[in-house]
Amino acid sequence: MPFKLANVAGRAALVDGDHYFDLEKASGGELGSDPMEAIQRFDELDRINLSGATPDGKLADADLGPPSPKPPQVFGIGLNYKDHAAESKMALPDTPMIFTKFPSSISSPGANVMMRGQKVDWEVELVVVIGKTTKDVSQADAWDHVAGLTVGQDISDRAVQLAVKPPQMSMGKSFDTFSPIGPVMVSKDTVKDLSDMGITCDVSGERKQDSRTRYLIFTIPHLVEYISSILTMQPGDLIFTGTPDGVGVASGTFLKDGDVIVSEIEGIGSMTNRCVQER
Ligand code: ZN
Repeated sequence: MPFKLANVAGRAALVDGDHYFDLEKASGGELGSDPMEAIQRFDELDRINLSGATPDGKLADADLGPPSPKPPQVFGIGLNYKDHAAESKMALPDTPMIFTKFPSSISSPGANVMMRGQKVDWEVELVVVIGKTTKDVSQADAWDHVAGLTVGQDISDRAVQLAVKPPQMSMGKSFDTFSPIGPVMVSKDTVKDLSDMGITCDVSGERKQDSRTRYLIFTIPHLVEYISSILTMQPGDLIFTGTPDGVGVASGTFLKDGDVIVSEIEGIGSMTNRCVQER
C-alpha cells in the first residue's frame, strides 16, 4: 500500500490527501515520532490504517522539515543526464561520478536558500532515501533497500566549486541550506513508473529544467549497487541522482536575491524555496 511520510515540526507524520496524521498517534504508539526511525521502519508504514483517524492538520499549514533530517551520508551524482553532460561540455562518464553533500547542508522543503556568492545555481534532482543497512547489494535487490523517494535541490556555488582544479564539488554544494528536500518521502508503489518521472525546475516563474528520469545514465539500482560495493549505506542516507540540462552556469545566469525556485517531480510533489543574498 502506498504511503507518504512527512516531517512535521520534527515529528514523523503520514500524509493522506490534504491532511497529515502524527505517526506515533496514528499507530497507537507502535511507531515513534522520530522521522529517522520511521524511515528505518518503512516496511511497517503501509500497514497503518488512516481511514477513520482524525487528521492532525492540513499539509498546507504544516511546518515541514526534511523527510530525512539527519542522513548519515549524502551522495551526489555528477553528470548523470546526457544533455547535462553535453551542456557542461564534459564527456559521458562510464563510472558514476560521485561527490558528497555534507549532511549539514540538508534543509526543509520550504527553507530559504542563503547565498554567500554571486554564482549560485539551481539543480533539481530525484533523491533516493535508503531504508536499510546496504552493503554489496545487487541491482536486482536494490529497490528492496530504498525506503522511498523525494525531491531535492543540489544548490551549487559555482565559484567555490570551480575555484580549484579538479573542482571541489563537495564544498561548492554544501553551504548551509544548499540541500532542501521534500515536501514528503513517497513510497515506491506511489509512483506509476519508477524509471520514468517528469522532473522540472522553475526560477521566478521561468521554466529552466524540464526532463524525465528515464534519461538517467546510471539508474537507481545501478547507483545502489555501485555505492554499496564500496561502502555501507545506512537508513536515512540520501542519493541525489543528478540533474538534467538547463542549469544556470551553462548560460551564465545565476540565482538572485528574491528568486523563487519551484522544484517538482511527477508522483512526488513540489517544493518552493526563496533565495536570500546573505552577503
Ligand atoms: Zn547535482
